[in-house]
Amino acid sequence: MKFADQRKLMVEQQLIARGITDERVLAAFAKVPREKFVPYELQHLAYQDAPLAIGGGQTISQPYIVAIMLQELHLQTQDITLEIGTGSGYQTALLAELTKQVYTIERVWKLINKAKKTLLEMGYENIYFRYGDGSLGWQEKNKTDMRFNKIVVAAAAPGVPPSLQQQLAKGGRLVIPIGSRFMQQLTVVTKQNGEIAEYSEDGCTFVPLIGKEGW
Ligand code: SAM
Repeated sequence: MKFADQRKLMVEQQLIARGITDERVLAAFAKVPREKFVPYELQHLAYQDAPLAIGGGQTISQPYIVAIMLQELHLQTQDITLEIGTGSGYQTALLAELTKQVYTIERVWKLINKAKKTLLEMGYENIYFRYGDGSLGWQEKNKTDMRFNKIVVAAAAPGVPPSLQQQLAKGGRLVIPIGSRFMQQLTVVTKQNGEIAEYSEDGCTFVPLIGKEGW
C-alpha cells in the first residue's frame, strides 16, 4: 500500500477511532510523511501502531501518544512552542505545522543533526534547533525572560522541571509524562493568573528525561 494510503488509515484507525477530535491535529497527521523520520530499513513499518527505534537507544513515539499530547496542548496558530526531546523530528514537524514557531532541544547529537537535516530539507523555516539538556528549558545568552505558550516534553521525568514551569507563559499549557522510570501518567500543567495547576491523564511509557531537572 502507498505511504499516503497508510497515512490516511493511521489517522482513521489509530487516531479518530480512539477519540482524537482536534481537527487541526488530525490534518497535520494527515499531511506529515512519517516515513521520512524513521530509519530507511524500517520505513515499511512507519505507519504501525507502535513506537520504532531511531538509533541511540531512542524511539519515535507511537502516533496515538503523540496525537494525545498535541491535543492536550490546545495548540493555536500564534503559539510559540518549546519541545524537549526532538528525537526523529516527527513531532517537531507536526508542531511546525500547527504553531508559529517551534524551539526544539535534543541531548543526543546524532539525532538532533539528523532531525535538523530532514526538517530543513522538507522546507520548514519556523524551527529553532538546540543540542543540550532540555530539562533546563531554552537558555539564551543575555536573555532571562524566554516564555513559551506551549511546552511539550517527549521524555519521562520524576516531576515537572521547575525551569520548564518557569518558562511557561501566562495562560500556557505544558504536557509531560510524570512518574517512575518505567511507567508514567501524562500530566498537563497550566498557568492561569500566576497560579500553576496540574492534572493527570492517561498512563504512558516514555524513555527517561536525562538531565539536571530530570533523571
Ligand atoms: N517526539 C520524538 C519523535 O517524534 O521522534 C520522540 C522523542 S523520544 C521518545 C525522547 C527523546 O528525548 C529522545 O530522543 C531523547 O534523547 C530525548 N531526551 C531525553 N532527555 C533529554 C533532555 N534532558 N533534553 C533533551 N532531550 C532529551
